[in-house]
Amino acid sequence: MARFTLPRDLYHGKGSLEELKNLEGKKAILVVGGGSMKRFGFLDKAVGYLKEAGMEVELFENVEPDPSVDTVMRGAEKMREFEPDWIISMGGGSPIDAAKAMWAFYEYPETTFEDLITPFNFPTLRTKAKFCAIPSTSGTATEVTAFSVITDYKKGIKYPLADFNITPDVAIVDPELAEKMPKKLTAHTGMDAMTHAIEAYVSTLHCDYTDPLALHAIKMIHNDLKASFDGDMEARDRMHNAQCLAGMAFSNALLGIVHSMAHKTGAAYSGGHIVHGCANAMYLPKVIKYNAKNSEAAKRYGEIALFIGLKGSSDEELVDALISEIKSMNVSLEIPSCIKEYEGGIIDEKEFMDKLPEVAKLAISDACTGSNPRIPTPEEMEKLLKACFYDEEIDF
Ligand code: FE
Repeated sequence: MARFTLPRDLYHGKGSLEELKNLEGKKAILVVGGGSMKRFGFLDKAVGYLKEAGMEVELFENVEPDPSVDTVMRGAEKMREFEPDWIISMGGGSPIDAAKAMWAFYEYPETTFEDLITPFNFPTLRTKAKFCAIPSTSGTATEVTAFSVITDYKKGIKYPLADFNITPDVAIVDPELAEKMPKKLTAHTGMDAMTHAIEAYVSTLHCDYTDPLALHAIKMIHNDLKASFDGDMEARDRMHNAQCLAGMAFSNALLGIVHSMAHKTGAAYSGGHIVHGCANAMYLPKVIKYNAKNSEAAKRYGEIALFIGLKGSSDEELVDALISEIKSMNVSLEIPSCIKEYEGGIIDEKEFMDKLPEVAKLAISDACTGSNPRIPTPEEMEKLLKACFYDEEIDF
């Protein structure tokens, strides 16, 4: 038995933000990030539409990147005072992820993060409010997924929350919001989406419901990401849909060790964070090569390669063609080939090597490892991470 869950309604296309007018309810709280939605006028628009819907509106602003437990608790507190029947979150992944967690603590004030981190163990939501998500970046697809990541800065822990209860009720995928993304963010979020789709396609939990979404997303991203990066707004608009399709696939098929490695290397080093999408983009070619030792995975990478028009007469040739295609996408998107080259070398080589055994252990225990087609030993994970640092070939 498997479950496949998506939002009940998804509005897409330019101007779909206006659908907020047609939500039925009395009170809406609007959760947003640091100010870009306000600056570009989307916040005022959203408030206006909600008022047209006859709702009283409160704002919860300034959700930080990598939202904290404290922010979640403050938001839930505000929700308990205001008692909204709609939670609307608009912006990048962070405000939407934060709002999902606030929702749980609004409905269940007595619950704890420790209770919520057991995957697929949430209490039943929607006893007080429904949830609408409006993404402004084209990558995380949190508007359609069952996931949220919250950081406890005091304990230095990230809580990955996973449950179909937090899959939003309504997603509004309006490309006008994504047209404001800067170039680098477009590249990084776009390759995050590409990684979502490829990992979902080869996941051990992939199924007939997730496969077509993943393949179509891969084809669209392959066609449109570079043009979107170069400022072609029609391609940018299509990327907003493509990342959402990738999200529908991975929310139900889960991911793999590219994400395990990106999660655990992201904030591990004193030189700075390795941005999620960029980490995925650098690690993806290495992981494909590693996973392809599993013949079923090799066959599926081969299917992807053929689907995007690459040539090869065996699975092995097709896998290699896919790897070079992803590498050349990275080059065209100005993404470095390895951690050593990242942001002019901000990640210290010695620190990376010192922490290698620990980071490898954490990556193996990451929630995304279980659905990867090949489960690495600690030694293999160390070799993989090292290959991602120096851009070495994978031959194991
Ligand atoms: Fe991701």
